[in-house]
Amino acid sequence: MTTGFTESEERRALREAVRALAGKYGHGYIQERSRRGEKITELWTDMGSHGFLGVNIAEEYGGGGGGIGDLAAVLEEAAAAGAPMLLMVVSPAICGSIIGRYGTPDQKSRWLPGIADGSFTMAFAITEADAGSNSHKITTTAARDGDGWVLNGQKTFISGVDEAEAVLVVARTADERTGRLKPCLFVVPTDAAGFTRTPIPMTMQMPEKQFTLFLDDVHLPSQALVGDEDGGLVQLFAGLNPERIMGAALSNGMARYALDKAVAYARDRSVWRDAPIGAHQGIAHPLAKVKIELEQSRLLQQKAAALYDEGDDIGAGEYANMAKYAAGEVACTATDVAVHTHGGNGLTEEYGLANMLLAARLGRIAPVSREMILNFVAMHTLGLPKSY
Ligand SMILES: Cc1cc2nc3c(=O)[nH]c(=O)nc-3n(C[C@H](O)[C@H](O)[C@H](O)COP(=O)(O)OP(=O)(O)OC[C@H]3O[C@@H](n4cnc5c(N)ncnc54)[C@H](O)[C@@H]3O)c2cc1C
Repeated sequence: MTTGFTESEERRALREAVRALAGKYGHGYIQERSRRGEKITELWTDMGSHGFLGVNIAEEYGGGGGGIGDLAAVLEEAAAAGAPMLLMVVSPAICGSIIGRYGTPDQKSRWLPGIADGSFTMAFAITEADAGSNSHKITTTAARDGDGWVLNGQKTFISGVDEAEAVLVVARTADERTGRLKPCLFVVPTDAAGFTRTPIPMTMQMPEKQFTLFLDDVHLPSQALVGDEDGGLVQLFAGLNPERIMGAALSNGMARYALDKAVAYARDRSVWRDAPIGAHQGIAHPLAKVKIELEQSRLLQQKAAALYDEGDDIGAGEYANMAKYAAGEVACTATDVAVHTHGGNGLTEEYGLANMLLAARLGRIAPVSREMILNFVAMHTLGLPKSY
């Protein structure tokens, strides 16, 4: 819980505990694993067994009984300690929130305890190549198949499918291909017949891989449908607002890591007289500017999470978008300033900052692009006409 602008003692203790644990792994661990194309399984398992991955999940299903503000604090601290964990955005935040709100008691007992302790990872698939930012155009279909369902379609850029036991797939009912978006959510096991994946070669190095998914006549039992068939966007947004808040937390954590590293270097590195480079305003001011923008961005993250945790989905939608925007921007600025502060060292593998330029860039594109957020704020907050 957050009161005003000060976080509760409990939240601060949570942050400290996560920072201590994630700091034991740190950026060197992530970098090494990414370079070798390996997973961060030990870190994920360790975070799960300490209860950090499930802080937002109800206690009766093995979680900490907190909110998305707590989970965002966990991710922000891990990223600030140099260990960003992309799949936290997906498994406990999107899938855990949707199943926690709309799952049946059976579905909750089946999936939530594993999501909470990290032993069961669920990826999330909405993006399609021909739809992109326009999710209204998705064509993955779900048709009735006796008591169950049969799914057909393709998804792209889906993170972590190789380390997930299941994927929460957004599909639409077969008879509404050209109508309004009527999303339905299905839990598809990654070993289901007809479900295949192809890795997408990405330039940025990170432990989590992205995949194109093919669903060819994937037969699912009736219990695979999460929520109501006619529940529509409301159910989806129970997961997409947490996704945006967590995206903000990831970017803010990354920006903190880059800023800390740059400040330490600026204090230490000296090339003129005895003064460190941080004595030059050309170096100090960009760092100070990042600090201010970062604190603005963290306030938006805090507000968005507080609104979501209070059950104000409409308010949370507006602030989650703004928080994601601000965090994506500050992460890009912070990593760029950090690289520049390090001079040539900023581009070396040893200092590990150059790859972060790409990782930070992701925060401007996914899960919703900067332009789509500006469209949202222009239309919904400012009441301007729709431009697309
Ligand atoms: C590393 C990574 C991980 C991802 N993980 C997942 C995942 O796990 N699950 C999942 O479902 N998806 C995932 N995605 C997909 C991600 O959500 C999309 O890439 C994102 O939503 C943008 O869609 P797009 O790439 O098709 O871009 P496009 O929609 O093609 O947009 C291209 C550009 O055009 C701009 N644009 C589009 N429409 C407008 C408009 N109306 N006005 C102004 N500008 C516009 C966009 O802002 C963007 O700059 C991931 C992507 C990446 C890169």
